[in-house]
Amino acid sequence: MDKPHFLSMNRDEYRELFKLWGLPKFRADQISQWIYKDAVHDPEQMTNLSKELRQKIFSEIDWRLPSIVDQVTGQDGSTKLLLRSLKGQLVETVLLRYENRTSLCVSSQVGCKLACDFCQTGKLGFVRHLDRAEIISQLFMANEILRKEGLRVTHVVFMGMGEPLDNYNNAVGAANVMMAEDGFFLSARHVTLSTSGLAPEIEKLATDSRAALALSLHASRDDLRTKLMPINRRYNLERLKQALLHYQKVTDKKITIEYIMIKDTNCGPQEAKELVKFIHGLKAKVNLIPFNAHPGLPFQRPDDEEIRSFQKYLADRSIPAPVRYSKGLEVSAACGQLAAKHAEELHSKPERKRLVSQMDASFAPVEVSL
Ligand code: SAH
Ligand code: SF4
Repeated sequence: MDKPHFLSMNRDEYRELFKLWGLPKFRADQISQWIYKDAVHDPEQMTNLSKELRQKIFSEIDWRLPSIVDQVTGQDGSTKLLLRSLKGQLVETVLLRYENRTSLCVSSQVGCKLACDFCQTGKLGFVRHLDRAEIISQLFMANEILRKEGLRVTHVVFMGMGEPLDNYNNAVGAANVMMAEDGFFLSARHVTLSTSGLAPEIEKLATDSRAALALSLHASRDDLRTKLMPINRRYNLERLKQALLHYQKVTDKKITIEYIMIKDTNCGPQEAKELVKFIHGLKAKVNLIPFNAHPGLPFQRPDDEEIRSFQKYLADRSIPAPVRYSKGLEVSAACGQLAAKHAEELHSKPERKRLVSQMDASFAPVEVSL
């Protein structure tokens, strides 16, 4: 049987394991403190444990971290990390540095099943779910990098590759460890799960996690949304709204609506009106995100005038909708499709060089709360 990974267990799960080993609870707590509080992943450095126990955990637990295949930092302070997971595939994670906080955009899957028309990850298809430890490893690795700067990650957004609510247990489980007092202890307002609209999972989330919710709406009319996001066929806008209302009734929390603006597609006066109608009755804030064009997809961002009038229409109806330009453009730090798409080829060096150079030219990230 595979050894459990050190990030696959939270404090209570360490306690369970230690119980099986006939060891006291406080020993499990010490280990979980070393890992989550002190960011130590070498049993040798866990100095308050006996030599025997250090040896036991060294041999019974998998202490490896993913390796860094590439690390590109742009002038705006964004770092894109390309990690090789212990199970083989490449996983992207993006670190965004701001004046008073650091935000990490994590991936929850390699690829995605949901095939949104405008999304490069969607074009890839689905490769596999990331397990909870693989999602948490992204945060652990980012903290390792930031430690040298005297910083750590303060915000996490699940906006890298994949649909977190399609990998519900792993993604929600990871988010919960990120917020837990005996985990990374991030503020619940600073951990955001972003979904394309899996209605039943949104409803379930209301009781399963304290994390914040962002909805990728992008269109508020069924025919248009179905065209852009095929998931809308399964859960149409009416069903989605019902799920959001349920979520708010249970949590009383504001939802962030992400609205990508695509030229000549979803940001005319008609669509602004439809968006206002959809939002009616919800406690929501809207982020307008001009589409990041990339080669191979026929979409463009609208011009500033169009963005302004869409925004004004909302503002006139008391809906503040800031325009969020993404950081990380330079390092093409977003829904990290290249990594997954070329996972095989990336093993060969010349091809890797070519792809890494393409990364700088292709795509950009989405960072919602600037
Ligand atoms: N699957 C989840 C989370 C990952 S995608 C979701 O869809 O919400 C994160 C965000 O990136 C989503 O809002 C998605 O719509 C957006 N996105 C995808 N391609 C984009 C592009 N080219 N420009 C701007 N945002 C994009
Ligand atoms: Fe998947 Fe989100 Fe991309 Fe849609 S936008 S294909 S749900 S990653």
